[in-house]
Amino acid sequence: MKFSDFNLKDTIQAAVTEAGFTEPSPVQKDAIPLILEGHDMIAQAQTGTGKTAAFGLPIMSMMKADGSVEGLVIVPTRELAMQVSDELFRFGKLSGLKTATVYGGTPYGKQIERIKQASIVVATPGRLQDLLKSGKIKIKPHFVILDEADEMLDMGFLDEIKNIFTFLPKERQTLMFSATMPNAIRKLAEQILKNPKTVSITKSEKTNTKITQLYYVVQERERDDALVRLIDYKNPEKCIIFCRMKKEVDRLVAHMTAQGFKASGLHGDMEQKQREVTIRAFKQGGIDIFIATDVAARGLDVNDVTHVFNYHIPFDSESYVHRIGRTGRGGKSGEAITLVSPNELRTIKRIEKDVGTKMTTQVIPTRIEVQNNRSNALIAKIADTKVTDKAIELVKTLQHDLDIVTIAHLLASVVQEENFVKGKDNIGLGLEEIELLIERAMQHRGGNRNGGRNRGRGGNRNGGGRNRHGRNGRSGGRSGGNRGSRNGGQGSRS
Ligand code: ADP
Ligand code: MG
Repeated sequence: MKFSDFNLKDTIQAAVTEAGFTEPSPVQKDAIPLILEGHDMIAQAQTGTGKTAAFGLPIMSMMKADGSVEGLVIVPTRELAMQVSDELFRFGKLSGLKTATVYGGTPYGKQIERIKQASIVVATPGRLQDLLKSGKIKIKPHFVILDEADEMLDMGFLDEIKNIFTFLPKERQTLMFSATMPNAIRKLAEQILKNPKTVSITKSEKTNTKITQLYYVVQERERDDALVRLIDYKNPEKCIIFCRMKKEVDRLVAHMTAQGFKASGLHGDMEQKQREVTIRAFKQGGIDIFIATDVAARGLDVNDVTHVFNYHIPFDSESYVHRIGRTGRGGKSGEAITLVSPNELRTIKRIEKDVGTKMTTQVIPTRIEVQNNRSNALIAKIADTKVTDKAIELVKTLQHDLDIVTIAHLLASVVQEENFVKGKDNIGLGLEEIELLIERAMQHRGGNRNGGRNRGRGGNRNGGGRNRHGRNGRSGGRSGGNRGSRNGGQGSRS
């Protein structure tokens, strides 16, 4: 099925095409036609399944763009408000539909101005209630959406939500989205929805099948070492580590930073500004590891999170599902990795049963396995790298003193050493160039094998040291000192 089968308004369809969406997700397939027919709806679907487009596309397709507020989306947190607003803006911009984002902690004036120009308001419950109650805004949206309704109730927003509905028109189309359907949600649905259609993505589809779920059994005192080892082994682009407690977040941030990772924590005590800065840094790649509690990570939509680690297994299945849904977004694959002590194995069994999926158990890799894994990844990368002119230049220079095989061995040593300890982006010369050099060198194998070997080694050492410090900020965290102690630690562990 294609998006064009929905017969959305041309400008909306064009925006979908521009966004690069080809196939609708399951919840989109089910929800979009029902919404277009004008039904109220209650939909159950996990995070990362494309709920924003599921309601955004059909309502925007039906909007008149007459300058009034036609749609209201209520979401639990400020971050989510901004994300949903951004996503809706991108679908609506070709149709002249503006969005306004409304949340607490900032001055009223600007928000009110923006609401006056918007077709869609995306708001958190507290601030929205303030604005409506005080009469600062008067809106008559035809479309009202409660997004992540279960989260809002968990956060204690039930009263605000009920109050907000007293200000909304009786004639409206109301849509409710929730990852889970506890009783409180059903009751609220009865009060605000009229003859709703139900959309429920069936159990097997509920957890994203593109997420590989693994667990590792470790002794309590091995948790930290196991985590570091696994991160070295999996070598994630971007990962989130979930903790149960704030103080665990703080402790792990310190631990991972000391190990040379670019880690940052997110928890409820942080100031809003600081949270935003941190989240942005994570999105843009300045931070590789995000360490968070469930509450702090609510609704966090960061693309390209390749791995989610549960430092401890969460207590309930719902937070497990929420957590692992931070990876495997937008049709990409992801891995969810849980550390459990033998005591917690029962929790694993229970969650498997609740969620309806099986997790696979694996053994923590040894240090040798970690190294082999990195080597294999490196070989694979070398195999599909193209040679640059700069690389050829560099080899030419090196060839004044060294034979080609020695150059290859030395460069491979540099790359491997750097790669193991510092992560893939931190080679002074530029990893890619070095890899190209090796490949080229291998092609020319058979040159003079003896030339300048010892001299070459000395040169390489110095080169490595200089490179290590000469690189940009990304490598700052991992100094030579860290490296030594880290290798030592791992050696004794395996
Ligand atoms: P949810 O609200 O269910 O957690 P989102 O609406 O935030 O999910 O969507 C998650 C990600 O998937 C977003 O980056 C979104 O742009 C992307 N996405 C949504 N629908 C599709 C689709 N049909 N094809 C590709 N990507 C999609
Ligand atoms: Mg969402």
